[in-house]
Amino acid sequence: MRFAVLGSGSQGNGTLISSEDTHVLVDCGFSLRETERRLTRLGLSAAQLSAVLVTHEHADHVHGVELLARRHGVPVYMSQGTERGLRKPVPVRTHVRCGDVLEIGALRIEVVAVAHDAMEPTQYVFSDGKRRFGLLTDLGSHCARVRDHYQGLDALMIESNHCRDMLARGHYPYFLKQRVGGDWGHLNNHQAAGLVEQLGWQNLQHLVLAHLSSKNNLPQLARQCFVDTLGCDADWLQVADQDSGLDWRHIA
Ligand SMILES: [Zn+2]
Ligand SMILES: [Zn+2]
Repeated sequence: MRFAVLGSGSQGNGTLISSEDTHVLVDCGFSLRETERRLTRLGLSAAQLSAVLVTHEHADHVHGVELLARRHGVPVYMSQGTERGLRKPVPVRTHVRCGDVLEIGALRIEVVAVAHDAMEPTQYVFSDGKRRFGLLTDLGSHCARVRDHYQGLDALMIESNHCRDMLARGHYPYFLKQRVGGDWGHLNNHQAAGLVEQLGWQNLQHLVLAHLSSKNNLPQLARQCFVDTLGCDADWLQVADQDSGLDWRHIA
């Protein structure tokens, strides 16, 4: 199994997970042209995608989904709540629900509900039968059910959205600070590092920090927070950024 990132952040998200000939894209927050460009960079075309799984209806996750489905016939998976929350209808192949286990080609996918200010947001854990990769972004807090799903992973990509202090001191209006920093917003660096510490990280082959805010965070602050919390090597941590995403990472 391997994964790569088209881009990560509030301007657009897309994560690829592949095993054999199965290529699943999670979210498509870029225009179709930009998505195609970024897929090409990773050696794939839109026509090769087995499915696009949508986490929730926010624009940075759904912007390109409709055209990807209509132009390339890529099957779309999302919750009914997410579909209801869309501004523009998307042809949905399959509705997912928290607790479902999807089988798409060579991948088995656990659907996990998270706390985020969307209609019915879901995140996903992937398995090829041997290894497990967890993707966890866009959540303001976590419960025991979420932690159960993300135990015993071989690779994890987790949101480290903002620095608490930068958000507090920054220029966002009060309501937005409350939203981003609240239980239904986004994980800050400390919360994300604390969660990884709780889950255990010694067996992770890859730990990728994602969905970093361009206004309320800095990659070096996020990294340092994880280094301080986990005692891990700074060079071992990886950051998926907005423009370049992350090149393929193999999970052996
Ligand atoms: Zn987002
Ligand atoms: Zn969101």
